[in-house]
Amino acid sequence: MTAVDAIPEIVQNLREGFADGLLREKSSRIAQLRQLRLMLVEQEDRLVDALVDDLGKPRIEAYMTEIAFTINEIDHTIKNLDSWTKPEKVKVPITFKPATAKIYPQPLGTVCIIAPWNYPVQLTLAPLVAALAAGNTAVLKPSEVAPATAELIAELIPEYLSSRAVAVVTGAVEETTALLEVRFDHIFYTGNGTVARIVMAAAAKHLTPVTLELGGKSPAIVAADTNVKVTARRIAWAKFVNAGQTCVAPDYVLVEDGVEEELLAALRDAITEFFGDDPQASPDFTRIVNERHYDRLTGLLDSGGYETTVAGGTGDRADRYIAPTVLAGVKPDAPVMNEEIFGPILPVLNVGNIDEAIGFINDREKPLALYAFSTSDDVLSRVVDRTSAGGVTLNHALLHLAVPDLPFGGVGESGMGTYHGKAGFDVFSHRKPVFNKPLRPDPSIMYPPYTKMKQKLIRKFM
Ligand code: NAD
Repeated sequence: MTAVDAIPEIVQNLREGFADGLLREKSSRIAQLRQLRLMLVEQEDRLVDALVDDLGKPRIEAYMTEIAFTINEIDHTIKNLDSWTKPEKVKVPITFKPATAKIYPQPLGTVCIIAPWNYPVQLTLAPLVAALAAGNTAVLKPSEVAPATAELIAELIPEYLSSRAVAVVTGAVEETTALLEVRFDHIFYTGNGTVARIVMAAAAKHLTPVTLELGGKSPAIVAADTNVKVTARRIAWAKFVNAGQTCVAPDYVLVEDGVEEELLAALRDAITEFFGDDPQASPDFTRIVNERHYDRLTGLLDSGGYETTVAGGTGDRADRYIAPTVLAGVKPDAPVMNEEIFGPILPVLNVGNIDEAIGFINDREKPLALYAFSTSDDVLSRVVDRTSAGGVTLNHALLHLAVPDLPFGGVGESGMGTYHGKAGFDVFSHRKPVFNKPLRPDPSIMYPPYTKMKQKLIRKFM
């Protein structure tokens, strides 16, 4: 754990690295990104071990969603950095000609990246890729809730990256509070909305801009005309990967009248197909991160507000295991509908039609993600047009997050700002406008005295 009184000096060291132009050149940014890639490749086994230790993740899932995801982000960034860093030419109005107008992306300085525990490698390092690509030095604050991964990141980063470019601060509330007292040029926070408010208040003291990547209850709408079997498999996969501890997991399902029974049966079948008759024995099912979250989730199950448990509903605290669970006949005011579930519990609610589903969503906070399953383009575009969400995948789930050129982030209660690919580069850059006018010619039309003739010309051209 980082000593609280060491934090100001750690940040100062990074500030000096920035001021000395450590990452001014594109080549030096790429060199750091290559080192980060090398770390992920060479240390894959140890990183996956830590993820297994913290969350009991299946090794291939840890590879896919954390290691490979971050490597892809690095490769995409290196490939595109030339075009992203190039000044962008914009048009000059005729009255200002001859002149040029360009937007120069410039690094912000020293930034702070605070990460959560559910994808602790990806969510700590993917923002770092963007920060380095844009030329910033950065402090990483991994989550103490995934301690094995946090400690390993703190050990490996100084081995691979310049200590004047990137530093890691480990710890919990006390350390993060101390970190937030220091002035940064940007704070990038991923986690829950309550802490986001603390982060934003701390940032306000220094007028530091923030990106807040938060969560929420992401709905999946299932229209009666969909292919129910495929829909159920896709929803079950997206919900139960990482045992539902995914910010963009479908939190609940709104199913249109007529296919509810078929959908519930297909969800149950998908769970058996993925994890067998006893998911606890499956090597492919993740555990709940800690007892506190285990108790929170079983508390939601115990507090009712639904008619039947179609699948799962059981748990084993000593193993931090909660079975993949599907609840039917869920009331809109059930406790399980009052907060983001963030675990392997899927409530299914019936709606009369798609407009009712749209109304249900619009009556609640704006979600981080929204999913809709239908064979009708009209239904899909109606859902997209009439709802607000951080991002949308149609006829599947989660995948918009993995397309590097799609900006990823929330809206309203699910967050502010986006990243991934170019959006990440932009978030850590100031797009600086530069207008450049040659010294000659120097017509006097804009200068006093404003003669009648000048006034006429100004009115004609402006
Ligand atoms: P968490 O408990 O690990 O907290 C996140 C970070 O905040 C940690 O680094 C922690 O040290 C710090 N923190 C905690 N309390 C603090 C305080 N009082 N002051 C300052 N810092 C503090 O993670 P979490 O919040 O449980 O994460 C889960 C939430 O994050 C869910 O809501 C989920 O949807 C959301 N999430 C969003 C995304 C996204 O990309 N939008 C990704 C993952 C998770």
